[in-house]
Formats: sequence, C-alpha cells, structure tokens
Amino acid sequence: MHCQQIIHFGEPLEGRDYPTPEPKGTEVLLKVTACGVCHSDLHIWEGYFDLGQGQKMDLLQRMSLPFTLGHEVVGEVAALGPEATGVEIGDKRIVFPWIGCRKCAVCKAGDELLCMSPQTVGTRYNGGYADEVIAPHPKYLIPYDGIPTELACTYACSGLTAYSALKKLSHLKAEDHLLLIGAGGVGLSAVHFASSVVKAKIIVADVDATKRAIARQSGAHATLDNSDPQAALAELQEMTGGGAAGAIDFVGAPTTALFGFNSLRKGGHMITVGLYGDSMPLSTAMLPLMMRTIQGSYVGTLEEMHELMALVQSGKIAPIPYEVRPLDAANSALNDLKAGKVKGRVVLNPRA
Ligand SMILES: [Zn+2]
Ligand SMILES: [Zn+2]
Repeated sequence: MHCQQIIHFGEPLEGRDYPTPEPKGTEVLLKVTACGVCHSDLHIWEGYFDLGQGQKMDLLQRMSLPFTLGHEVVGEVAALGPEATGVEIGDKRIVFPWIGCRKCAVCKAGDELLCMSPQTVGTRYNGGYADEVIAPHPKYLIPYDGIPTELACTYACSGLTAYSALKKLSHLKAEDHLLLIGAGGVGLSAVHFASSVVKAKIIVADVDATKRAIARQSGAHATLDNSDPQAALAELQEMTGGGAAGAIDFVGAPTTALFGFNSLRKGGHMITVGLYGDSMPLSTAMLPLMMRTIQGSYVGTLEEMHELMALVQSGKIAPIPYEVRPLDAANSALNDLKAGKVKGRVVLNPRA
C-alpha cells in the first residue's frame, strides 16, 4: 500500500509504503480510485483548529502519526473480511466516512454523527491519500452508478456538507432570500444543489470576482462582493427588502459569520459550516430582539448521503468543477488550496 502521510503536523506529507492491510471482521478493503482534497484536510495537516481568543483544539492528543488524510474516497472492493456481506469484489463504491464508534447509545440509536468517539475515515482511520483503504463495514459503501468516479468522491464531504446545511433551511419559501457566503468547494456545491433542496432565491457572497462569476453561471439569483461587509449589507438590504430569511456561512471566519448574522431579517436562521476558526463578538440582545437562530452543521448523516446520491443520480444536481492530479502531488494540492487557488475540487488519483 502506497500512501502520502502526515509524519509531523505542519510539515510536507511524505510518501510511505506498507503491506496491504487485511480486512478483519466486517471490514472491506478497497483499491482507491479517487480522493478529494478538502479544506478540513488543511486544518488536520496543521494539527489544530483555531478556536479563537488564543484557544486551540490540538489534534496531537486525538490522532496518532504517521497518518493518512483523505475522507472523500471512492474505490473498488478488493477484499472482504470474514463477516462482510452485501458487496462483491470489483464493486465501485463511495466510502461514507462519518462513522461513529458503533457501540455507544447514540450510535446504536442511529445518530453516529453525534458520537463522542468518532471513527471517521481520513480523520481517525487512515484515509484515501493512498492506493488502498479499509472501510469498517459494507453499510458505509455507497453505489454511484452513472456518475464519474472523480466527481463521485466529492459527494462524501463537500456535497454532503452542502446538502445537509441546505436541508436545515428547507422550510424557506419561494419569496424568501437565502444568502450563501463563500463559493469555494462546499459553497459552490450548495449553489449547484440549492434549487433542488430549498425554494428561496439564492444570493451568493464571495470576495473573489471569479468565484462570483462561477456562482452566477451556476444559477445564483444574485451575487455580492463582501470584501466591504458594510457596503455588502446595504446592498443586501435593498435586494431583499429587509434581510435574508436564511444564511449559510461556508467560510466560518469572524468577518463572514458576522456578515451572515447581520444579514438576517427577523426570525432569520444562520447555519455555520466553515471551519476557518477564530471567534466573533455577538450582540446578545439581537438574538432575542431579532429572534435569530444560529446553528452549526457538520457534514451529514448516512441517510442524507443516500438522499443526496438519489438526487445526483436523477440528474437534479449539476456537477462541480474538478481537477485530477496524481496522488504524489498531494502536497501541491494542499498548498494550492491553502492559497485559495483551487476552483471547485482537486481530486487525487493514485493510478494517474
Ligand atoms: Zn471534508
Ligand atoms: Zn458512538
């Protein structure tokens, strides 16, 4: 097995070779055919999440190194553990990575996303920056017939995250406005799906003119340049006649979160998705006075993954742009993502 691994947090990944892992119990071994490079890989690579006010979530206590990143994995079933049933050698599958411990009360109730001991592929289990990967159980393997392999992998995180966030605002009405902040990988996915999940008119805010242009081509009702948040808010007020009914912050920086919060009309609902980090000052009085809601949304459930793939397979979701690079170009892919040079997704192919 060849993989690109974190040896030390914050330092370039290094190529390593290991014997092919043997699947045990319900495990399934897959030959990786594609793996998306996600923004959250950057945070794991750095070894921490910035919680603001000098606080950090240090990943050194949660992960052991060397570690293989990659949670947007597609592969071909290569071997089955003795208790694994329901898939055959050669089956092409997306690996659903958001797996819980499968032992605690929330996992047993089917809410694996709420598990306090997650066993996510690519953040706890070694992931898909490799030519082979282990999935813990066949139920996490999702068919993607009719979808290009390199596109299919992006639905495991960027697509699913966008879908789950939008679904939390599916109560919005046709005359409402929904503000999407940040048209990078996940935000752009949301622009593509939005009309299949919510009825509201979509306004996309991004500081990058190229990304705004892509958002307009992808069906956004209007776009805003939020590099000057005050000017953008004034423009938004005029566009919406009193504020947005919903906002989704795909960046998660203090400026974008505050921009989203201030964009809301009375009763407005903001979903925070982005993991940029830091913290923001919030007017506590505005929460009750404006009856606003802020909700965090993290990836999505296995059930939502199946719903999303049904939408994708029925042709209701336009593909996001992606670019394929060889696995051993993982470092340059991460650096380009960090520098904001990626439009859509970079997908690693270990056989390219
Ligand atoms: Zn991700
Ligand atoms: Zn659990």
